[in-house]
Amino acid sequence: MSGNLATVSYIGAIILFILSLGGLSNPESSRRGNLYGMIGMAIAVLATVLGPRVTAAGIPWIVGAMVVGGSIGVYAARTVQMTQMPELVALMHSLVGLAAVLVGFASYIDTSVAHTGAEKAIHEAEIYIGILIGAVTFAGSLIAFGKLNGKIGGKPLLLPGRHWLNLAGLLLVLWFGREFLNAHTVAEGMIPLTVMTVIALLFGIHMVMAIGGADMPVVVSMLNSYSGWAAAATGFMLGNDLLIVTGALVGSSGAILSYIMCRAMNRNFISVIAGGFGSGAGKPAAAGAGEEPAGEVVPVSALETAELLREAKSVVIVPGYGMAVAQAQHTVNDITKLLRERGVKVRFAIHPVAGRMPGHMNVLLAEAKVPYDIVMEMDEINEDFGDTDIAIVIGANDIVNPAAQDDPTSPIAGMPVLEVWKAQTSIVMKRSMASGYAGVDNPLFYKENNRMLFGDAKKMLDEVLSALKG
Ligand code: NDP
Repeated sequence: MSGNLATVSYIGAIILFILSLGGLSNPESSRRGNLYGMIGMAIAVLATVLGPRVTAAGIPWIVGAMVVGGSIGVYAARTVQMTQMPELVALMHSLVGLAAVLVGFASYIDTSVAHTGAEKAIHEAEIYIGILIGAVTFAGSLIAFGKLNGKIGGKPLLLPGRHWLNLAGLLLVLWFGREFLNAHTVAEGMIPLTVMTVIALLFGIHMVMAIGGADMPVVVSMLNSYSGWAAAATGFMLGNDLLIVTGALVGSSGAILSYIMCRAMNRNFISVIAGGFGSGAGKPAAAGAGEEPAGEVVPVSALETAELLREAKSVVIVPGYGMAVAQAQHTVNDITKLLRERGVKVRFAIHPVAGRMPGHMNVLLAEAKVPYDIVMEMDEINEDFGDTDIAIVIGANDIVNPAAQDDPTSPIAGMPVLEVWKAQTSIVMKRSMASGYAGVDNPLFYKENNRMLFGDAKKMLDEVLSALKG
């Protein structure tokens, strides 16, 4: 493939990526958006492999790597549970970071292309910054992976003088950067480059370890953004325009998402990154943690729930992480259909950080074919709870916790929540009194108008559905 054809293909791929992002902004156009992304990526890969910069001797290596990588990808995508999706995403971000680090070292060691003067300084600065971003992304994403799958606890690690540690790390990175740029040989430059990589890895670990459970959504989207900048940095190192543009698209859309997440949680972005929020300082959930119960709860059966639903005129369903765990979305859709056929006004209330990744609930509901027009964002529906007969909370906890509004000492204080307790009756469906991801007790459970339907969400909803049919 000639250089010109490769460039035209790259421009086509870039346009498709932009159209893809546009499509993904709306559930109805998201399938089309995905398709554009897939076609764009296929063009990008083909134009690169067949492009002028790959020699015939390199092709078997590339094909071999693609077969191995592609097989692992297909296996992971086929076997991953929907609930493990956020971890998989975190792991993939870590691979982008690792790639940036490896490409950085490879381009530094590669002396086949001679750079001199200002060009050499720019090339080395690209390498240094690329490895820095890549190493932070790699280490941070691995810790996020551990925190999301529960292997690492949600509590923030608050080292004494952690801000000073970060500052010292930054100063060292700047100092070693100067050493690196002044190095005369590759061997001489390897020392500051390696030391900086170690500092960046430690910084990535420290940064995510210092962030509390409740603030993880911001970290997930922030690492998404970092992975984009790491890819853009790789593009600079390799002189690949497509990678620069694609990385910048991912980086900036991830940054916008982080901003939206921060706003949704009423958090200041800088404070989240500095760590220490969401410290889990509140009491853990009462009975689940073996502590004194914080009040009386009123349990109900599936039969009673069906009875309450039968008499309701308006119902709002609040899905959370537990619905994903139980894979209850299809039964939720069946109940929704049945109630709507009987003239009940049913709507869904989606909290921006429900589940374990941005858009988690929307994906599940779309998979179950819940109509888009009854799926509402928090801001659209929060005021309507006062006019709602029944609010059913399915495996959600933190996102319906009134302590966020009432208790300024709560780790989730200030986070906007879905005000389900304003409905005539709220029904919380979960297996026990255990707390949610943020590890805080939920006073909603003890409210007079709240009922608890204990059990696995799928099993309970199946029982509710058959009671409704009967
Ligand atoms: P939570 O984690 O607060 O609560 C989920 C609840 O589901 C648990 O209390 C659990 O209770 C219940 N549950 C688990 N399995 C089942 C089951 N099989 N059947 C019924 N219930 C079940 O989830 P929310 O969605 O309310 O809130 C999301 C939390 O995750 C927030 O704290 C958010 O900050 C955080 N987070 C969000 C991310 C995002 O991007 N969306 C990313 C990372 C973290 P029990 O064990 O008693 O059943």
